[in-house]
Amino acid sequence: MHCRLVLLGPPAAGKGTQAQLLKDRFGFQAPSVGAMLREQKAAGTPAGLVAAEYFERGLLVPDQTTIDVVRQWLAGHEGPWALDGFPRTVGQAEAFDAILRDQGVAVDLAILITVDEAVIRDRVAHRLICQRCGAAFRIGVHVAAASDPCPKCGGALGRRADDTPEALADRLIEYRSKTEPVNSYYQERGILHAVDGSRAVEAVFADLSVALDKTSAAVS
Ligand code: AMP
Repeated sequence: MHCRLVLLGPPAAGKGTQAQLLKDRFGFQAPSVGAMLREQKAAGTPAGLVAAEYFERGLLVPDQTTIDVVRQWLAGHEGPWALDGFPRTVGQAEAFDAILRDQGVAVDLAILITVDEAVIRDRVAHRLICQRCGAAFRIGVHVAAASDPCPKCGGALGRRADDTPEALADRLIEYRSKTEPVNSYYQERGILHAVDGSRAVEAVFADLSVALDKTSAAVS
């Protein structure tokens, strides 16, 4: 499946979960751009130091820094890939198209995962992240307590620094004002496919897979 796709949607829509399924079931490379930025911070790179100032407050990292990090990643990775959380501004989408054009490729499909704000708040309030493998879990469903080990790798679980009510409120404002226009950007290009992300993970993935099958048949 030689498809290149982007996963769009508000915080806690399930982009990371669907990206992981694309990786496990279809062999996609499916990096989270938020995780790339956090890795840059951990490595103490100039881009990471810039990024940290923003993402800990729930604000979008400036386009130039984000685009540079994605460009660097793309240089070492051919498709198929599914980018989780990129682009998040129309400026990023335009710059991304230009980079891909130079490589003779393009975004084939943009999956928009929709969920309403009540679901987002509930998911964020119950979300635990493995500090080692990055997998997300719901307290009360996948683990009984925050002190439990990661069910996948045994690592320690913790809250994301930007999963506080204050940072979430800022992330939602950023999403509505800067990221939602990206949905129209891809819709105008005829490659946006929306799926209802408030349903069970497998139901969302089934819808996504149908869109992916159609797109793959058209581009291969
Ligand atoms: P995520 O892990 O996808 O929720 O992203 C966490 C944080 O990383 C976001 O709140 C932003 O501060 C930053 N970030 C991730 N992707 C982008 C992007 N495409 N543009 C700007 N900032 C981003």
